[in-house]
Amino acid sequence: MADKIKVALVGIGKIAIDQHVPSIATSDDWELAGTVSRSGTVDGVPAYTDIETMLAERPEIGVVSLCLPPVPRFAYAAACLRAGRHVMLEKPPGATLAEVYALDAMAQNAGLTLFATWHSRMAKGVQAAKAALAGKTIESGHIDWKENVRQWHPKQDWVFDPGGMGVLDPGINALSILTEVLPTPVHLKSAVLHTPANRQTPIRAEMTFSDGITASFDWLKEGIQTWEQRFVATDGTTVHLFEGGNRCSVDGIAQTMSELGEYPALYARMSHLVRTGTSDVDLSPMVHVSDIMTLGRRETAPAFEW
Ligand code: NAP
Repeated sequence: MADKIKVALVGIGKIAIDQHVPSIATSDDWELAGTVSRSGTVDGVPAYTDIETMLAERPEIGVVSLCLPPVPRFAYAAACLRAGRHVMLEKPPGATLAEVYALDAMAQNAGLTLFATWHSRMAKGVQAAKAALAGKTIESGHIDWKENVRQWHPKQDWVFDPGGMGVLDPGINALSILTEVLPTPVHLKSAVLHTPANRQTPIRAEMTFSDGITASFDWLKEGIQTWEQRFVATDGTTVHLFEGGNRCSVDGIAQTMSELGEYPALYARMSHLVRTGTSDVDLSPMVHVSDIMTLGRRETAPAFEW
């Protein structure tokens, strides 16, 4: 077996602790060799509070996985690439498209791997849905992505600040699946964004895309959380992705799923990219978010407090 790849995790918060740390710990490919966070640490792992110090003191760490929110992420990613490190970006990969294009160019010029991850694309039913829709023409589709912001982003005010994307932060997960499974790309036709009177980003959004596809994102859903997509092709094939894309049925029949979970699959992919000297930067989900922000009609929603 090849040597484990040493990785540093940056931004030790909710997703780093919930998903990245356990996925690295259970992988034969990876070793968590350092963390960078102003306050977060991981037991037994050398901790730094400053990215430049970690990069200078730990030359053997070849990969940095950035788990902080999108707005501060660019400066960290650029520092890592300048220091000759491969970089893995949490979703959404940046605060703007242009900054991710800039990172992509930096990585290419330096011969480094950049992986703009989309964890929902790795959900266990996504490839079955993609296979079922391959070569078909879509007649209609609908996405319901409805979850409780207080459960998934407790007290994280950044999600309601400019660049935090509001409900489009989880919504981009739905769009990452949509852009993966559809046989041909769709484009946004209209959107309505409901933004709390005291906040900067939407808490609810409705979208209409070409090919008869509609979507409804809601961040105030209590009780059972709903992450579903349904598609009907012109030949009558129906595809239902549910549980965030982790289950799939085609014409009512349950499909065989991928084996790896979302984050273990992301780290397996990053390991492949690093070992083969390649990158994976698909910004199509973020293009849709940008279009939704550009074309969306604004409506004021009741003020939101945690
Ligand atoms: P979070 O817990 O609020 O933030 C992660 C860490 O980033 C924080 O603990 C903080 O660590 C650091 N950080 C925050 N603001 C910073 C700043 N301005 N400058 C430097 N560091 C800063 O957020 P999260 O929920 O883990 O989300 C992080 C990313 O993962 C987001 O892009 C999100 O979309 C994605 N994600 C989240 C979830 C989820 O369920 N929450 C699921 C999948 C993906 P220090 O204060 O210690 O530096």
